[in-house]
Amino acid sequence: MLRRAFLGAMGASLLSTFAFADEHNSEDIWLREDQKIPFFSVVKKLDQIESTVGYAKFNLISFDEAIKIARNYPKIEPFTSAELAYIEEVFYEDPIKYGFYGKRTCFSLSESINEKDVIKIPHSGHYLYRGHSQESFGHILKDVGNSIILTSGIRGIVKQLSLHLEKIKSENGNITLATRSLVPPGYSYHTIGDFDVGKRGWGHENFTPNFARTSEFWSLQKLPYISMRYTLGNQDGVRFEPWHVKIV
Ligand SMILES: [Zn+2]
Repeated sequence: MLRRAFLGAMGASLLSTFAFADEHNSEDIWLREDQKIPFFSVVKKLDQIESTVGYAKFNLISFDEAIKIARNYPKIEPFTSAELAYIEEVFYEDPIKYGFYGKRTCFSLSESINEKDVIKIPHSGHYLYRGHSQESFGHILKDVGNSIILTSGIRGIVKQLSLHLEKIKSENGNITLATRSLVPPGYSYHTIGDFDVGKRGWGHENFTPNFARTSEFWSLQKLPYISMRYTLGNQDGVRFEPWHVKIV
């Protein structure tokens, strides 16, 4: 049995305290040889689907819609059975083996987002759920000011799958390391209401621990109606994410 799985949740908090984002570990799990062909073709296909539907809309599409788009657009090939099997494996396997201890937020690969329940946030390329998420973001804008922006809102299963696989690719196939910053589809709180914020004009710096040094971050800390999902040494085994607002 893998040491991480054996240690369970108790050990998870300890390990995650010391396991920082770019630290390799001998227990890390890498993409298997037999996964490599479907992995790269799924990454490519998801990229083609995103180019077809557009960046913002890609956040919302369901897996069934993605399958339909791949089938109907001549430039994209339909998903093969090997690709579908790989996607199912990613969605349904237990990520505890990668050192991730968070809860599942989504139970079926074919879950979809009702467009009536969401609202597009101007100039962001992202959506929020109407109600609690939208209201909280509105209050944040009012309380922190115009320098705070939405950097990632709702992510459906397809978007989260795409981000997760892109991260595995950028970590050269190290799934354990990738999972620490981009959780598998089915485990993201973005799918059910959390969102990320950043400082206007900061670009990718917004997704680094440096965000915790901004005055925007400290203003957020004072707001009683929100909290941080992934604190330093969190029990889920996710890296420190000062930009991720816990809503649900
Ligand atoms: Zn986030």
